[in-house]
Amino acid sequence: MDLCIIGSGYVGLVSGACFAEVGHHVICVDNDQKKVDKLQRGEIPIYEPGLEELVHRNVAARRLRFTNSIEDGLDHSQVVFIAVPTPPQSDGSVDLTYIERVAREIAGVLKPGQYRVIVDKSTVPVKTGEKVADTIRRYNKDAEFDVVSNPEFLREGCAVPDLMNPDRIVVGSSSQRATDLMKQIYEPFRAPILVTDLNSAELIKHAANSFLSLKISYINAVAAICEASGADVEMVADGIGMDKRIGRNFLNAGLGYGGSCFPKDVKAFIAISRQLGTPFALLEEVERINATMLDRFIDKVRGALWVLKDKKIAVWGLTFKPDTDDVRNSVAIELVNKLVAEGAQVSAYDPKGAEKAVEWGLIDPTKVRLTKTPADATDGAEALLLATEWKEFANADLAEVKKRMHTPLVFDGRNHFNPETMRQLGFTYYAVGRPAAV
Ligand code: NAD
Repeated sequence: MDLCIIGSGYVGLVSGACFAEVGHHVICVDNDQKKVDKLQRGEIPIYEPGLEELVHRNVAARRLRFTNSIEDGLDHSQVVFIAVPTPPQSDGSVDLTYIERVAREIAGVLKPGQYRVIVDKSTVPVKTGEKVADTIRRYNKDAEFDVVSNPEFLREGCAVPDLMNPDRIVVGSSSQRATDLMKQIYEPFRAPILVTDLNSAELIKHAANSFLSLKISYINAVAAICEASGADVEMVADGIGMDKRIGRNFLNAGLGYGGSCFPKDVKAFIAISRQLGTPFALLEEVERINATMLDRFIDKVRGALWVLKDKKIAVWGLTFKPDTDDVRNSVAIELVNKLVAEGAQVSAYDPKGAEKAVEWGLIDPTKVRLTKTPADATDGAEALLLATEWKEFANADLAEVKKRMHTPLVFDGRNHFNPETMRQLGFTYYAVGRPAAV
């Protein structure tokens, strides 16, 4: 099938490449000319395992191309996906200006007799699809189209496998014609397709991300109780998670959730529920618990080092999770900046995120020493703080790290290391919700 994706970021680009991989012809549109130029030169603007090969293979096979022209995209595609940002506003509600603009742009180029399915893949508040349809109709009386909601559940860091093997595909649609086309598009993926009405599909996405955030905050609250009682949250999480009704996923205690989705989607769901007159106070507690995790962690560091000013501190990890270069709303970045604000001398290492952290102005390279290897960051350090659980850190030569450090003190914000191994190596080791290993 001929598909168009408007917005070629983490969701749009990976979706476009995966649709092409299963045989569709895909045009990815973006209004960021620099990004389009890069993509046309074969450069991939984001890091996502497997994406580069996928894009190159499908461009070479002429199933994938890039443009800045929505008109070009719409002229050649029967189904048009929207994957533009839906950032939060200061009150937590969703900024829908990108979506509204795309709806107007679509209305501007839709030609009479050109039936198109407009599919919203961006994460949007319930009832947005209705507004998209109203907007297109308002600006183009002759437009023939249906609006469908098709929320995306990919996880950055494993977006390609997530898209190629989804747990489910949600299609919110009130038109049989549009639903049939959506089923045809997704047929090669051999995943269960849940067809719902438009509003339910939109709500599924916010409800799902809020529930996952709730699981994280739940285990983090349990971790605090473990610390106060001497229990081990990893054992508690195993014991809870082995119950099939609960599951072990997302029961990982640590510095809390971050990134471009969970914080904004929880905020959005709180705002949506409030606007609808059905406040969701439980989610406010989820946010509150999440916000305490970083301060609890830094308090632990202070407990060992006393004053942080002038202390040499190594931080491993800047991205919000491993296997991505995405540093948006990363707790690791917040950690680095809080340490710097207290006057600590921070050296940081991340396998993929340092460049974007500087490029996007999230880290000041004149205040943070960014190193080329994890071990380099630990030279003379009085403490090592692990903020992102990259595999590279688990495989690091910790004996070498210990030699380079001034004091063998490790604070593990993601419970990534084995406490017994750390003890045997001679570290004093603090994790989250676990007894210290000395
Ligand atoms: P992104 O910022 O990486 O990409 C968005 C792209 O849209 C950018 O390249 C931008 O230049 C482009 N764009 C903006 N306005 C445009 C316009 N008028 N015409 C053409 N292009 C335009 O964002 P993302 O992370 O891909 O997220 C997109 C949506 O998907 C958001 O609603 C997000 O909540 C949702 N989502 C994200 C993820 C994730 O892990 N990143 C997962 C699921 C859902």
